[in-house]
Amino acid sequence: MKNRYLLILLAGLLTFFSACKHMPGYKTLIITGQNNHNWKASSPVLKQILEETGLFSVKIMTTPDKGGDMKTFDPDFSKYRLLVIDYNGDSWSEKTNNAFVEYVKNGGGVVIYHAADNSFPKWKEYNEMTGLGGWGDRNQKDGPYLYYKNNQLVRDTSAGIGGSHGKRREFLVRTRITDHPITRGLPVAWLHGNDELYSQLRGPAKNMQILATAFADSTAGGGTMRDEPVLMVITYGKGRIFHTTMGHSDLGGGPSMHCAGFITTLQRGAEWAVTGDVTQKVPWDFPSAAGVVFRPRFKEMTLDEAFDNIGNYEIEKSTKYLSCIQSHLRSLAGDEQGLLNLEKMMVKVLKDKEATVDSKKLLLRELSWMGSDYSVPVINELVSNAELKDEAEFVLSRLQGKN
Ligand code: ZN
Repeated sequence: MKNRYLLILLAGLLTFFSACKHMPGYKTLIITGQNNHNWKASSPVLKQILEETGLFSVKIMTTPDKGGDMKTFDPDFSKYRLLVIDYNGDSWSEKTNNAFVEYVKNGGGVVIYHAADNSFPKWKEYNEMTGLGGWGDRNQKDGPYLYYKNNQLVRDTSAGIGGSHGKRREFLVRTRITDHPITRGLPVAWLHGNDELYSQLRGPAKNMQILATAFADSTAGGGTMRDEPVLMVITYGKGRIFHTTMGHSDLGGGPSMHCAGFITTLQRGAEWAVTGDVTQKVPWDFPSAAGVVFRPRFKEMTLDEAFDNIGNYEIEKSTKYLSCIQSHLRSLAGDEQGLLNLEKMMVKVLKDKEATVDSKKLLLRELSWMGSDYSVPVINELVSNAELKDEAEFVLSRLQGKN
C-alpha cells in the first residue's frame, strides 16, 4: 500500500516538474490601470503580441484607479525579467519607485510603450530611463529636444514645450542604426499604420541611442518638419530599456497596433531588453516602404491560413496569401522534402474546382521552379483548360527538362 502512495506522489512530482520545465519564457509584467489612452484595450494586445513569440509569459497588473491609495500598489519587481509600462497616471509610492529603480539598476528589462513616456514628469530616475518624454509641463528644464535634421542628430536646447503630435496618419519609419540587434535585418524604411507621430519630446537623453525616426511632415497634419525619434534604447545601471513611441490604441487596438512593423519591433525590443540580443527572425510580412502590413489578429499568417485563402485569389485584390506561400517556398529552397510537402498543398488548390484561375496561374508559376513529378498528372489535366493551357504547358516543359 505504501509503495502505491509513493508512486502516486512520484508521478505527481514528475508532472509538476515537467510542467515547470515547459513554462514558457521570461516572466513579464505589464503595468497599467491608469492612462489617458484605452489601456483596457492595449494591455491585452501587448500581452498577446509578446506571448506570440513563445519567449515571454506575461501577467497584467493594474494600479488603483486615479486618486486611489497607491500604497497598495507594491509589486515584487524582482520576480520578473521584463516590465512593460502601459501607464500614464498618478505617482506611485516612494517605496514602489525605489524598488523600480533598484530593479532596473540590477539589470531588469523595461519596455516604455507610447504614452508611458508622458508619465511621471517629476521623477528624475524614470525620465533618465525613458530618455525623452512629453507633456506634463515638460519644457527646457527637462532636457534638450532630440531629432534628426538633414540626416544629422540634433540636441536642441532651445526653450519650448515638450510633446506634441499632428493629425494621425501613416508614416514612414527610417532605421538610423542598422546594426543594433533590434533593427538588424529590418528594411531601412517601412510604412507604419495610422498613428500619432510623437514629436518635440525632450528629456535627459543620457545613454540613449535612437534606432529609428519618422518625418513629421507639416503638410500632412501639423508636423515639426523634423525627423522625430520613434524607437530608442537606453541603458540605466545594468538595465536595458526599449522605448517605442508608436502604438496609440483605440478600442481593440487600432491600426497602429495591428501594424506588423509595430508588432515586430515591440517583440524584438522586448527580447533585447531582457537579454541584450535578439534571436527572433525578421518575419516574412514585415512592411516595406511601399505599404502598410496589418495583422488582423496580431499574429503572423500561417501557411495553412494562406492555403485556405489562396483559392479565392484575385490579382487586383491582395497578394498577401501568395506572399506568405512564396516566402515559405524561398526559405525551403534546397530542402526536397519540405518543398514536396508544399507541392502537395499546391496541387490540392490546382485540383479544386472552386479555386480561381488567378490563384492557379500563380501557383503554376511557382511550380515551374520547384515542382516535381508529383505535379505532372494534375498539370497534364490543366492543359485542357483554355485559360490555363499556356501556363500548364510551360510548367510541363520545365519539369520534363529537369529529368
Ligand atoms: Zn496616443
